[in-house]
Amino acid sequence: MAIRVLSDKVASQIAAGEVVERPASVVKELVENSIDAGATSVQVETREGGKRYIRVVDDGRGVPATEVELAFRRHSTSKLSTADDLDRIATLGFRGEALASIASVSRVTFVTRVADEPVGTLLRLEGGKVVAQQESGRPPGTAVTIEDLFFNVPARRKFLRTDRTERGHIGGWLTRYAMAYPELRFTLSHDERIVFQSAGNGQLRDVLVAVYGLELGAAFLEVVSDERETSIHVAGFVSPPALHRANRSYITLFVNGRWVRDTRLTYAVIQAYHTLLPTGRYPLGVVMVRLPPEEVDVNVHPAKAEVRFRDGDAAFRAVQKAVRRVLVERSPVPLASRPSTSWPAAAPFRPGRGERFERLAGLGPAVEQMRFEARPADTTRPDEAAPVVSSDRLPPLRVVGQVGTTYVVAEGPGGMYLIDQHAAHERILFERLLAERERAAVASQTMLE
Ligand code: ADP
Ligand code: MG
Repeated sequence: MAIRVLSDKVASQIAAGEVVERPASVVKELVENSIDAGATSVQVETREGGKRYIRVVDDGRGVPATEVELAFRRHSTSKLSTADDLDRIATLGFRGEALASIASVSRVTFVTRVADEPVGTLLRLEGGKVVAQQESGRPPGTAVTIEDLFFNVPARRKFLRTDRTERGHIGGWLTRYAMAYPELRFTLSHDERIVFQSAGNGQLRDVLVAVYGLELGAAFLEVVSDERETSIHVAGFVSPPALHRANRSYITLFVNGRWVRDTRLTYAVIQAYHTLLPTGRYPLGVVMVRLPPEEVDVNVHPAKAEVRFRDGDAAFRAVQKAVRRVLVERSPVPLASRPSTSWPAAAPFRPGRGERFERLAGLGPAVEQMRFEARPADTTRPDEAAPVVSSDRLPPLRVVGQVGTTYVVAEGPGGMYLIDQHAAHERILFERLLAERERAAVASQTMLE
């Protein structure tokens, strides 16, 4: 075959291959556009794992009527104009290829309005070709609907996985962005069921609770870097040394608000736990690195999932130090004296002698696995493992929800239970220590002096 220049259509489909791998990549690109547009709320809806339908609605600044069609041309962007701008990218997008790529392999309906125009614009494209453009009413912001992804690329469609798997990938992206932007309200629903929601109150810890569940969310330690030491700002949350996982995939990194894979920075987090974790175990964490945009090259990876630091060692040190600092400051030191078994008077629970308060299973959506057991006081001696009197045992509870990150509301056959989760947690720790003490297994160490 002779050499020829590919038609625009073929060229865009090839380019789309890099940007659009699966429904989750569409969600990622659209959500990034919403964030770049200054949205405060981003709602994502999918059907059939996003293969049939994806809709992203935001309240961002929208696209002026005269520019809507332009937004779908390849290499058209409002975020960059000269090559020099590449040195200081402050937005998530900058290549102007996402919308064009997505449109070339799906049916798109893009409805948008800027606040100072009286009416919005609706643009419809199929396989990259505009099939309709008209005025349309909508509040300021943008709603993008993607239908029948890869309808014109059967080879690609074949590689899509089950709805469930595709939903999982979409959820992964949404929770990452919810963590990176706690001040934005994200909602994700699959097949008309809301599966994830972030409050948008600016509190990363609240997002962590939404993502990892109550107990993990509450256990994380907050990382704050010392501004005097470096211009590289590190923030986020990491697990206390008692919490760990069998692989490093629970370490999530963001650089200037962009989720990245970075083996070195991941290693910096792990290194900070040096000697604190058993071998082969890894911490969990969400670490946000912020540095001047000119210090980092974001244009090194087709899906923008990797970045290059001008000074990689400095970034490594900043992360390692910030994480290490919080671990040293906040990790509990083993007790040297024998703990008293009497419960502090101010505590909301009194430990009746035989009362037991038991945690089932490990971590995870912990509260759902919490079970309470009560036995009348004085029926047993504490060192006897007497069977629990079943009539006094609280039934397994179904957790209904949580109020003010303070109370767990649960339902049992007998009615509603309101659980003060902090008191409950203290009680669990207390019982654990008591049990360890009875087994003479309390971690202790002799002080030098
Ligand atoms: P990029 O994000 O790299 O600029 P895209 O193809 O994703 O490229 O988007 C092209 C342009 O369309 C953006 O630069 C932006 O001006 C506009 N745009 C896309 N999505 C939105 C949105 N949700 N709100 C406002 N403007 C948008
Ligand atoms: Mg974009």
